[in-house]
Amino acid sequence: MLSFEDFKLTTPLINALKDLGYVKPTAIQIAAFNVLCAGKDVVGIAQTGTGKTLAYSLPIIRNLKYSSDETPRVLIMVPTRELVVQVVNSLEALNLYTNNRVLGVYGGTNINTQKNQISKGIDILVATPGRLYDLALSRVLKLKNIQKLVIDEVDVMLDLGFRHQLINIFDLLPSRRQNIMFSATMTSDVDALITDFFINPERISVALSGTPLKNIMQFRYEVPNYYTKLNLVRLLTSDLEVYYRVLIFVSNKRMADRLFLSLSECFQDECCVIHSNKTQNYRLRSIEQFRSGVNRILVATDVMARGLDIDDVSHVINFDTPEYPENYMHRIGRTGRAKRKGISLLFSKENEMDYKNAIEELMKIKIDKLEIPNEVEISKELIEEERTQIKEHYNPHKKTDLDKPGPAFHEKSEKNQKENLGGSYKRIIAKKYKKPKTRGDKNYNRRKKK
Ligand code: AMP
Repeated sequence: MLSFEDFKLTTPLINALKDLGYVKPTAIQIAAFNVLCAGKDVVGIAQTGTGKTLAYSLPIIRNLKYSSDETPRVLIMVPTRELVVQVVNSLEALNLYTNNRVLGVYGGTNINTQKNQISKGIDILVATPGRLYDLALSRVLKLKNIQKLVIDEVDVMLDLGFRHQLINIFDLLPSRRQNIMFSATMTSDVDALITDFFINPERISVALSGTPLKNIMQFRYEVPNYYTKLNLVRLLTSDLEVYYRVLIFVSNKRMADRLFLSLSECFQDECCVIHSNKTQNYRLRSIEQFRSGVNRILVATDVMARGLDIDDVSHVINFDTPEYPENYMHRIGRTGRAKRKGISLLFSKENEMDYKNAIEELMKIKIDKLEIPNEVEISKELIEEERTQIKEHYNPHKKTDLDKPGPAFHEKSEKNQKENLGGSYKRIIAKKYKKPKTRGDKNYNRRKKK
């Protein structure tokens, strides 16, 4: 087990850590330190609470040489203002005995004050993407010296719709830089961003924070489709005493709304839902009602359930099998907290079995399979997403548009094949009036007569 001494930190950093009272590094800090110091691109999968802020800050600060330059060399992007403040506080505590200049900027506050602060010179900038982009466009903030880019809570950022803003910002950064990304969950959006912008990143992951697996009993069901899953959930959760606080995970917002409506039909006021399309107030209310026991069942998406620190969740139900096994670990970590026993149930359709296998591989244990109780009606009805899949399944030879071969790579795409003849307005008018519209082309009629 590594200790802070093994990190060969500078004296100011050692003193700052002492002041903070940190004695030994957390798992993610150990996993991240050497790779980050080596300057590699890194993708870290870790939740808040694992010590991830320090995991990227320590190596960055340790290697940041003194500079009198005014433009920042480290850029840390986070999705919310609250997080800007939190990260700035951590950085300030770590930089107590160094001269590194740290600044946090976010929207909703006076931009001119921030411009003034920037013009005084900074080393490390912490920012939300929107305000960062505005400042960069105003040319007060120069990003040409950024050597290290950290994107924290990237899954939340993408879920809030910041993808385009991130890409615009990447365009303003020097191409030679170290990219560091932290996310609590892996989603296909996060994966796509990594593939597009990261160079052969090293992946580090602390799958489960705080909750030892032995506190959680895990079982699984093989269920053919949505409606059968729904029937099963209804039957199980109708036992109010056993299922007294149930957190149901689904992979996307649409499914969250669908399931919430379906469950509300039979459990009325016992259910609530959170996902990122709900307003902040709605989400807070849902969590509060679930926490206080007003609602017994909370339907949540992976990303939104992240900060949930709710004690005594009796069951986590994985209504679908998450595509990324780390998400399963985060989900089930919501139960079995504070040494209590928790139960996790995993529902898998046939096309989710590969995901289930990946989860078992990550945990290095097999999840016990339970049979669907006889009372549960096996539905034949399919939801839209399931229907299209079935169609494909039974028409393996049917060619879709997607199967059509595209043009060779050297051919121009369709929209680029048009020839630009210029002066389109003149051509339209000429066609309509069959004579020159401008006085300039005096030879027009003469040419025609020939
Ligand atoms: P984070 O995951 O970055 O939000 O950090 C979670 C909490 O853990 C913060 O309050 C940190 O102050 C604290 N923390 C981070 N690293 C350590 C450490 N090595 N030892 C003790 N506490 C830590």
